[in-house]
Amino acid sequence: MDKCSICGKNDKNVSLLYASHRELGNIWLCSDCWAKEYHKILPSGGSRGCCG
Ligand SMILES: [Zn+2]
Repeated sequence: MDKCSICGKNDKNVSLLYASHRELGNIWLCSDCWAKEYHKILPSGGSRGCCG
């Protein structure tokens, strides 16, 4: 997958970031959407939180 899962941007100049989104699961995000959705993005590899 080589486009942003939020806005659909697939410009080759845009670097995409792989993230675990709270609602959308594992997706690719452009940096703009990363900034916008930051609060919904889970820490990478974060399935073993300490405090449930
Ligand atoms: Zn985007």
